[in-house]
This record gives sequence, C-alpha cells and structure tokens, in this order.
Amino acid sequence: MIVRKTASELEKMRQAGLLVWRILQKMKEMAAPGITTLELETAAEKMISDAGAKPAFKGYYVPAAGEAFKFVLCTSVNSEIVHGMPNAKRVLKQGDIVSIDTGVKLDGYYGDSAITVPIGEVSEQTKKLLRVTQESLELAIDQVRAGNRLFDVCGTVERHVKSNGFSVVREYVGHGIGTQLHEEPQVPNYVDRKNENPRLKEGMVLAVEPMVNAGRPEAKVLKDRWTAVTSDGSNSAHFEHCIAVTENGPWVLTRP
Ligand code: MG
Ligand code: MG
Repeated sequence: MIVRKTASELEKMRQAGLLVWRILQKMKEMAAPGITTLELETAAEKMISDAGAKPAFKGYYVPAAGEAFKFVLCTSVNSEIVHGMPNAKRVLKQGDIVSIDTGVKLDGYYGDSAITVPIGEVSEQTKKLLRVTQESLELAIDQVRAGNRLFDVCGTVERHVKSNGFSVVREYVGHGIGTQLHEEPQVPNYVDRKNENPRLKEGMVLAVEPMVNAGRPEAKVLKDRWTAVTSDGSNSAHFEHCIAVTENGPWVLTRP
C-alpha cells in the first residue's frame, strides 16, 4: 500500500528534507583532496545531533548484510555505486568522485538525499557522467505529478541515461518515504513491465535516486557485505531527492 501524506505531514517531511540538504551542502564544501570519508561522517553526525534529529542509516538493519549499518553517511568513491562506508583510511584525491548519501528522521518523518561530488578536476567523461545523472533526476522530478504513472518517472531516467551512452543500475532502486525510510512503491531507474505501475496521487512522496554507471550496468557487493561496486570497475554516480506529489506539481522536499 502506498501511504499518502497530509499537508501537515508533508510540512514535517519538508523540515527533515531541509536538514538533509544543509548536511549535503556542508559535505560538498568539505569534500576536497586530502580529506577522509570518516571526517565527512563525523561532521555530518554532529549536524544531525545538533538539530535534534536521528540518523536514518546508522542502526538500519539490512538482512542481506546480516547486520545494521554503522554510519550516518554512505560514502561511495569512484566505482562504488552505493552503501560505501566512511573510513579513516579513505583519503579523497584529485580526480575522484564521491557519492554522499544521507538520511535523517525528524519529528517522526524521514528525509533522504544524495549528491555526487567531484574532487578537484575530473575527466571530461566523468563530468558528463555527473551531468547526465543529475539531468536524469531533474527530468524525473518533473514527472512526479498527479495523474502520471510510476513508469513515467522510471522510464524518464532510463531513456536519458541510455541515450547518453551510460547504463542504469538495476539491483538498487528508489522508494516511497514517510514515517518509514523505505515505503512502497519501489522506484526503479528503469521500466520493469513485471512490476505494478500505480497512478501517482496527491500526498505520495517518492525518493527518486538514479544510480548511473559509465560502463556496464552490473553491480556486485564487496566482501564487507555493504559496498556495491560496478562489476567492470567503471565509475558510478548517484543523485537523490524526495519529491511530494502536490496539487501544484512536484515539490522537492530535500532542497530549498
Ligand atoms: Mg533512498
Ligand atoms: Mg539515500
């Protein structure tokens, strides 16, 4: 069942979303050659606790991993797609890209967003990967409208990515969000005709999160049981926003 939110619930989700946005702005400022992903984690964790919020990921149990995640951020560098773990030994260097994904729970409601940040100067191909992934999210956001269907969102990401020569990850998907971090429906970055294709209605909130590989689409999980990487070693980018369906069109909760 897809839970629809009232206006006052959306206002709470908005506050959670803006906190996530502020954290990611800070992460973007900090991400530079020489910094470790654990330093980003420490700063993000402080912002969450200072705001009186709870981290959405730290303590989140995932059956496939057999344990709870230990960090407030996922930091996924270069060929890491998602679920990379902050690490004191992971020093970011010129030419890297790092996906920073975080979520919070504030006043009972979740926010969840991700950005991929270039570290110093990156290659033209990598700039294109970041640009196309971000564009695919923006185009998809515009589809989050009452009367459209879920496949309008999924297919928009898939078409834009493929027409630019990149591939979408199939193993990981976006999701509904609200009082739970992951609610129905699943929001793949491709159209899977075997899935249901519900009509979007006012009050629904989707976390849309294109994960785009420069090379082949396949993913595998490292021995740490969390970090998903591209199986061909190509770079991967990830952007995410939470978007509410409203009578005035899409409302991106995770940015001002
Ligand atoms: Mg998400
Ligand atoms: Mg996320």
